[in-house]
Amino acid sequence: MRPADVVHAAAERIDTGRSYDVIVVGGGINGCALLWEAARQGFSAILLERGDYCAETSANTLKVIHSGIRYLQTLDLKRVWESVAERDALMRLAPHLVRPLSCLTPTSGMMLRSRWAAGLAWLAFDAIRAAQGPGAAAMGRNRILNKAECLRRVPWLANEPGLSGAALWHDAQVVNAERLGLAFVLSAQERGADACNYAEVEKLLVREGRVYGVRVRDVLTGGVASVTGRSVVVAAGASLPGLLATCHGDPAAAPRFVRAANIVTTRRLSDVAVGRASRAEAGEQRLLFAAPWDGRTLIGTWYFPGDCSAHPGGPPCLTRAELSVCLRDIEATFPGGPLCEEEIALVHTGLLPAEHAPGVAAGERLSEKERIFEVRRAGRGTGLIAVVGVKYTTARRVARKALRRVVEHLGDQPGGRPMPEATLHGGDVGTLDTLVQAKTQEYEGTADARTVARLAGLYGSKLDAIMRIAARDARMAETIPGVADSIKAELRYVLENESAWTLCDALVRRTGIGGRARPTAETIAYFADTMTGHFGWNDAVRQANIDAVDRYYERIV
Ligand SMILES: Cc1cc2nc3c(=O)[nH]c(=O)nc-3n(C[C@H](O)[C@H](O)[C@H](O)COP(=O)(O)OP(=O)(O)OC[C@H]3O[C@@H](n4cnc5c(N)ncnc54)[C@H](O)[C@@H]3O)c2cc1C
Repeated sequence: MRPADVVHAAAERIDTGRSYDVIVVGGGINGCALLWEAARQGFSAILLERGDYCAETSANTLKVIHSGIRYLQTLDLKRVWESVAERDALMRLAPHLVRPLSCLTPTSGMMLRSRWAAGLAWLAFDAIRAAQGPGAAAMGRNRILNKAECLRRVPWLANEPGLSGAALWHDAQVVNAERLGLAFVLSAQERGADACNYAEVEKLLVREGRVYGVRVRDVLTGGVASVTGRSVVVAAGASLPGLLATCHGDPAAAPRFVRAANIVTTRRLSDVAVGRASRAEAGEQRLLFAAPWDGRTLIGTWYFPGDCSAHPGGPPCLTRAELSVCLRDIEATFPGGPLCEEEIALVHTGLLPAEHAPGVAAGERLSEKERIFEVRRAGRGTGLIAVVGVKYTTARRVARKALRRVVEHLGDQPGGRPMPEATLHGGDVGTLDTLVQAKTQEYEGTADARTVARLAGLYGSKLDAIMRIAARDARMAETIPGVADSIKAELRYVLENESAWTLCDALVRRTGIGGRARPTAETIAYFADTMTGHFGWNDAVRQANIDAVDRYYERIV
């Protein structure tokens, strides 16, 4: 595709001649799930995302799809019920991307962290699971391990004071958070919805006090257009206050946001995820979670007040002092001594909603529950619905709630029954294991087993489309330079099918190659050369894309 075609394609993606039932602003996980839910229920809908889908906070989650165990501590059984249902639903919708994750936390003493307390919690959990009926995902049972069993699984917990055993439970892990968001978008498009990345909403349009559309700028071309609709839903994460200002909506309605961070390390700690109170300081006990992920370990989560970015509009960053806090925690809590620089594969950062909380250290406490509300202006409703999610896990549920508000606002619902949920784009695989087994045999000679397993895990049933590209052109079956478990057909596929416009889109979010660590120079050059050929980039555009990749990895100031 040539640059002129890109301009053309971007302009065409925004259908300004059409009025939608629902305009969704913001393509993080909440906006992506909302688009899908709207399309499923038969609404005409469009999603406008200023960057790439799920490229901001939603890309930087710890990737845990919670089963709500932590809510047992506060006896919030409703949230446990909701979380388990969401975990199961995501595993059903995208079994290739959302996989079981066994987790354990050490038990000690006679109080809240004791084996007895954990045993009671598991009884309550089992009762909730049983009440959810046979449709619930088949996961192992939660168990209490004795000390010997605990140490067999995680030997380095031997230094846990008063260790009596461990509580073992099953969450799930979204192995590629960006691709799950994309799967919602592609599925919605298959059901007639429109979606546009690199489409920044600059202004909410108001007539007689009601929001009736948006003014949108095509970030790729600079073109500006208006899109109108019967309802507008803003799921723009930390940009909500700025967007409210464009329609004089009450800014006080928006929460404040704090930074949250994870460290991805090449150090492998265990085969199960381990939750452990930080041992860095005697006083405040931050709970840290270390989860195995793609041959590495994801550790988090730390929270820091205030905004901080290396580049205007760039991702939130950590200061060196804040990074030191994380590293000190890791050294004190997990084995292997201090992490050296080469062991830090990535630093993930995002912004989470918080509330003013007098008496709390930094004066702010993370919001516990999502908020869905109509934005008011000079004391009157504007029809604009704002969505502030607090968890990646619950995006589908939040989307349904938001849609109910939209229906109230519209006063009608599309005719016909909602389409069944079925599976998301690429999710019609049965189980991942059976898919990998069958496809490894089928494609023997075209790609090695490791490559097939990786592609199946990311693209699900769309693996066949990638392999068809390789079958048509033998060069496409060659390995991507510097990447042992990929073939060139993968990049060709994402460029032709997945709205990947920039080097970061393809390298980091679609293939995930740059999402697990910084790729080698030869890999970046291969991607840049291929995309230059595909889009007809000139030298300046090519270099700008490479510079953007460099900036992607700069999270420390
Ligand atoms: C370090 C960390 C760890 C976490 N761990 C977990 C976890 O393990 N499990 C879990 O369930 N949750 C976790 N979370 C929480 C979860 O990631 C977030 O709640 C969720 O991703 C928020 O999604 P969102 O769609 O609301 O926001 P975002 O992902 O921020 O999406 C908002 C989108 O709106 C777009 N946008 C903004 N302004 C405009 C505009 N003007 N026009 C168009 N688009 C616009 C942005 O580009 C962005 O893509 C974690 C979060 C962090 C930061």
